[in-house]
Amino acid sequence: MPPTKSRAVVPEQLGFAGMPEKLFVCTPSKLGAYADCPRRYRFTYIDRPSPPKGAPWAHNSLGASVHTALKNWYGLPAERRAPGALPTLLKSTWVREGYRDVEQERATYQRALDWLESYVATLDPADEPLGVERTVAAKTSILALNGRADRIDGRAGPDGPEAVIVDYKTGRSGLDADDARGSQALALYAYAAERVFRRPCRRVELHHLPTGTVAAHEHTEESLARQIRRAEETAMDIVAAEKAVAAGADPDATFPTNPGSLCSWCDFRKSCPAGVGVAGKEPWTAVEHLSA
Ligand code: SF4
Repeated sequence: MPPTKSRAVVPEQLGFAGMPEKLFVCTPSKLGAYADCPRRYRFTYIDRPSPPKGAPWAHNSLGASVHTALKNWYGLPAERRAPGALPTLLKSTWVREGYRDVEQERATYQRALDWLESYVATLDPADEPLGVERTVAAKTSILALNGRADRIDGRAGPDGPEAVIVDYKTGRSGLDADDARGSQALALYAYAAERVFRRPCRRVELHHLPTGTVAAHEHTEESLARQIRRAEETAMDIVAAEKAVAAGADPDATFPTNPGSLCSWCDFRKSCPAGVGVAGKEPWTAVEHLSA
């Protein structure tokens, strides 16, 4: 296999003095990857070929299956949005990878179906969201942001129609308002949705299906601006690191490892000097409690 190369993707310089550099095209998860661990960012977005990833994770399969079922729920005509539609919806796009065995997979499927039945009982089948798995995009002077929100609701606010960002969660732990407040991804979706739909979008919600709870936060113009500034700072750090590598800097020093609790869940653990000695989780560890 040819050696892995760090191929820094440097924004093109336009050829005229004073002209701005090309915008940094990104999603919230790209920015989040760098903030979590610059080395993982490099493995994911720069090194080609990318280092081999570990086995698929069952919790990712579960999350994808539930998200797709909810997307397809809204794809049904309103009169067919009934709990009886859920087994077919879930089964038809169920992702099977990562489970320990068929027994665990079946138990997890049943748990996911229970979550969905409880969750859709809280929804008005006649509601038509502004967007379902909808990509929203916006530009700042530095960023060309885009990202896909699980759902964007249109709701009546005190001063007229508003947009609300809804993010489904299927992880083990419950979530609270601090999680909603601190989520850069939700804030960036809100910033973009406000521009796409031309209406205020300040409320962000995490819908945790296993517990049926909603963690919400109301942003202000200032708090969204703060999150945008943070995202721009991350983007500038990434561009500076990519330029440094392109100019000959050591890619390992420029994209350092950030060892921590994430390593045992990292797809690139076996290719990373900081992760190779860390005991990895089994692909099904995060769903084990569901089938116990
Ligand atoms: S194993 Fe840890 S340090 Fe290495 S890339 Fe993954 S998260 Fe970063």
